[in-house]
Amino acid sequence: MASGAELIRKAKEQITEVDPREVHELIGNGHRNGTVLVDVREQHEFEEAHLPGAVHVPRGHLESRIEGAAGDRSARVILYCASGNRSALAAKTLVDELGYEQAESMTGGITLWKDRGYDVEVPRRLTAEQRERYSRHLLIPEIGLEGQLKLLDAKVLLLGAGGLGSPTALYLAAAGVGTLGIVDDDVVDLSNLQRQIAHSNDRIGVPKVDSAEQAIHEINPDVEVVKYQTRLDASNIMEIIDGYDVIVDGVDNFPTRYLLNDATVRVKIPVVSASILGFDGQLSVFAPYEGPCYRCLYPTPPPAELAPSCGANGVLGALPGIMGVLQAIEVVKLVTGSGEPLIGRLLLYEALSTTFTDLKVRRDPDCPICSRDPESISDDEMGLFPDYEQFCAAAG
Ligand SMILES: [Zn+2]
Repeated sequence: MASGAELIRKAKEQITEVDPREVHELIGNGHRNGTVLVDVREQHEFEEAHLPGAVHVPRGHLESRIEGAAGDRSARVILYCASGNRSALAAKTLVDELGYEQAESMTGGITLWKDRGYDVEVPRRLTAEQRERYSRHLLIPEIGLEGQLKLLDAKVLLLGAGGLGSPTALYLAAAGVGTLGIVDDDVVDLSNLQRQIAHSNDRIGVPKVDSAEQAIHEINPDVEVVKYQTRLDASNIMEIIDGYDVIVDGVDNFPTRYLLNDATVRVKIPVVSASILGFDGQLSVFAPYEGPCYRCLYPTPPPAELAPSCGANGVLGALPGIMGVLQAIEVVKLVTGSGEPLIGRLLLYEALSTTFTDLKVRRDPDCPICSRDPESISDDEMGLFPDYEQFCAAAG
């Protein structure tokens, strides 16, 4: 029976070994001619540092995962590990058992590579607490470490900390969205608490941005909250939305919706939009120039008497919960690039009958805003809409 050392020595005789200098030159001149560089170490070793551009296939998963990393068996595959032993055995497996024509092992592994002074990539990592906090995200392949890091880097702006904004804010905070901006000029009122779950009895009279910030930090102290205790209008919108990756629209009035649409089309920020009335909710994602914008769907506002913001309208308390959480999920999808966001689709939810209807919606080639070059949309044109006071007055 051969000893382990004997087995490694024999493997090295049978395979081709390549010096780190050659690998360094290959990486350095950019065009690797289809060569695949594979790190066969364990997860924690790879996460600590690896060669630039290396893909990770732990030796224990070599047979099941190598094809995903290096599908072409005739391509040159250079394997490395810590010292060149595990990669020699792995190269032998690839050649002998999996039919790879040019599987080679790098001499001395990443240890020799570093000794030669060559650069390594140190991937960003989560802290031990973050790994624990987001462990259920890390287990979903569509999110994983990469997606979680994207969430932590994301800046999401919530318009309104009311019925829709409350659940969205809480779930996005829990999901680890790094920066949450909140625009709301209102204070918490007793009548809000039937649905606006970011607020509480003891915070009645407190500005909603402050109350929401407190609720967010109780869930996740890592989230940076940027508060805008103001109304969004033509004079401040460009400044407020600047730098955000996604905007969550929970506003209850049409003039602001048009203004928001025109401004976000101009700077190409996607908007996850929801609205609610009674037992019914609507949801869509407006991704400028990818799908229709709000004006493509609603070229003219509805009759004023149907506008929900013109007076106190009834709404089932749990309904904004459903719609706000759906908004939070769309945000997570947009940020992480997973799944198919609700672009070019309008989702209707009817709570009384418990039905979801998914309608296709198209861009309007004559849309006054998104059919044009974004550069040509002027400040004066944004949010062009009949005067809101008049609009509501017309409702009687
Ligand atoms: Zn449009």
